[in-house]
Amino acid sequence: MFEVVNQPPPLEPYNLFASDSVLREAVLRENAEWAEGGLNALGVTLGKPETVKLGFDANKFTPQLKTLDRYGHRLDEVEFHPAWHELMAIALRAGLHSSPWAHPQAGAHVARAAGTYMLNQIESGVYCPVAMTYGSVPTLRHAPGVAAGWLPKIYSRDYDRRFAPVKDKTAALIGMGMTENQGGSDLRTNTTRAEATGDGSFRLFGHKWFMSAPMCDAFLILAQTEKGLSCFLMPRFTPDGTRNAIRIVRLKDKLGNRSNASSEVEFEGAYAQLIGEEGRGIPTIIEMGNHTRLDCAIGSSSLMRAAVAQAVHHARHRTVFQKKLIDQPLMTNVLADLALECEAATTLTFRLARAYDEDDEVATVFRRVLTPAAKFWICKRTPFVTLEAMEVLGGSGYIEESVMPRLYREAPVNSIWEGSGNVMCLDVLRALGRTAHAGDVLRAELDGAGEPRLKTFVAALEKRLGGPERNDEAQARALTRDLVLALQAALLIKHAPPYVADAFCASRLSGENSGAFGTLPRGVDTRAIATRALPMH
Ligand SMILES: Cc1cc2nc3c(=O)[nH]c(=O)nc-3n(C[C@H](O)[C@H](O)[C@H](O)COP(=O)(O)OP(=O)(O)OC[C@H]3O[C@@H](n4cnc5c(N)ncnc54)[C@H](O)[C@@H]3O)c2cc1C
Repeated sequence: MFEVVNQPPPLEPYNLFASDSVLREAVLRENAEWAEGGLNALGVTLGKPETVKLGFDANKFTPQLKTLDRYGHRLDEVEFHPAWHELMAIALRAGLHSSPWAHPQAGAHVARAAGTYMLNQIESGVYCPVAMTYGSVPTLRHAPGVAAGWLPKIYSRDYDRRFAPVKDKTAALIGMGMTENQGGSDLRTNTTRAEATGDGSFRLFGHKWFMSAPMCDAFLILAQTEKGLSCFLMPRFTPDGTRNAIRIVRLKDKLGNRSNASSEVEFEGAYAQLIGEEGRGIPTIIEMGNHTRLDCAIGSSSLMRAAVAQAVHHARHRTVFQKKLIDQPLMTNVLADLALECEAATTLTFRLARAYDEDDEVATVFRRVLTPAAKFWICKRTPFVTLEAMEVLGGSGYIEESVMPRLYREAPVNSIWEGSGNVMCLDVLRALGRTAHAGDVLRAELDGAGEPRLKTFVAALEKRLGGPERNDEAQARALTRDLVLALQAALLIKHAPPYVADAFCASRLSGENSGAFGTLPRGVDTRAIATRALPMH
């Protein structure tokens, strides 16, 4: 039998909060210092070997659709492995689905962002119903009468997995259905129709091409009425306790996110209640969309962190050519470059999360302009980070047991759903044009305390934003990318150690980046950046 040598120990148990300097600093800086104790406890729970195993099991034993019972009666249920339920219980116990609404206070959205940032590193599928439930609250509030019945159950920290009418349950989760077969970005093409019944409720007829987490207790749905596209809440059970006419046709066979069920559904006269003004469905549901887009930025930053943590941990223990990998200069460069991308993404994400805690003009511009911008760029970078981090582990990184393939498969999803890349960038152009004082607010935020490289970069960006490019759809990606890079640089200059900010300006603002990680220029303190990213446990 061969002897096992030169293999790193597993990165577990470890405290996902205490071992992450960038996350801890963001929580303190963005007003959530009061949440440290709870986040620390959650970090310990998530980093236990048994919790890590739940993540593996939930993805190995994927959800199963049960359309009919043995006698042929409709079931339309999805069965999950116990690991899924245990992970859901951890997430809900921590309040990650609703704590800022249930207990509003300064830093509440930031604290919740930190919790979901950690959860998503261990398992991403459960994040989907957690994010949708979180996002549903501001939309539900458009119908106070309906919301009154649902919000107490949404605020509950129980995980009530029973498939039962909500009145018999201790807690509720909310999903959403917008995307139809013929169009997901252009929602005006929705064909699902809603017929008023005369008693104030509606019956929905039609289909949704994607409806994730179909075991949620209710869904926010777009459907057409005589007055146009409108928003509805469609529960799994009707008020008389019978199963609503929601037919789950099949589950999607997805690239990643495999622990989570995403379904195609048909509505055969499904009971629903109107949310908000009839004919104003898109503005009503978009409030949910803004929060779930924030969650895409949180989720993707956190996937970067999961990948970088595994990579630096591995490199710290693995020896090649008589040196630890982390000490081989070219590998130090790769690790530092990856860590830099992750820190920039995380810093921007938490700054954005703070905008959801505040209500002034700066917060309004951040939410409106920078939510789609951050979602675009952070989600776009994540597949590249997970890919390069996988390579740090060599062949072992390509093997399922290492978790890296799961992170890699998961990485593209946040870029596609809730508005794909182009849609986000076009939204940024629209938001820049329509948000009062966006220019002044951004100018103040991009002030880099005299850092000359940022100054030059911002001056060029301002010129483009002031010219015809601002309305040129074909340039929307380039403008959005550069807006995000400028803001990331400004934030790092203000808040990160000087060697991090210097490396970012040297590599991301110069226009010389080759696209591959590991190309930080000479003079950058790669060792300090890589060391900062080590998950110390
Ligand atoms: C895992 C997963 C889970 C999902 N869960 C849900 C869910 O729970 N509920 C739900 O409603 N949806 C869900 N979706 C659907 C998702 O939100 C849509 O797939 C997405 O919004 C894109 O819509 P589409 O697929 O119809 O693509 P299209 O609208 O056909 O877009 C295709 C491409 O064209 C681009 N594009 C669109 N308009 C323009 C334009 N004007 N100019 C340039 N380019 C443009 C888009 O950016 C995209 O890249 C899920 C998707 C996935 C992958």
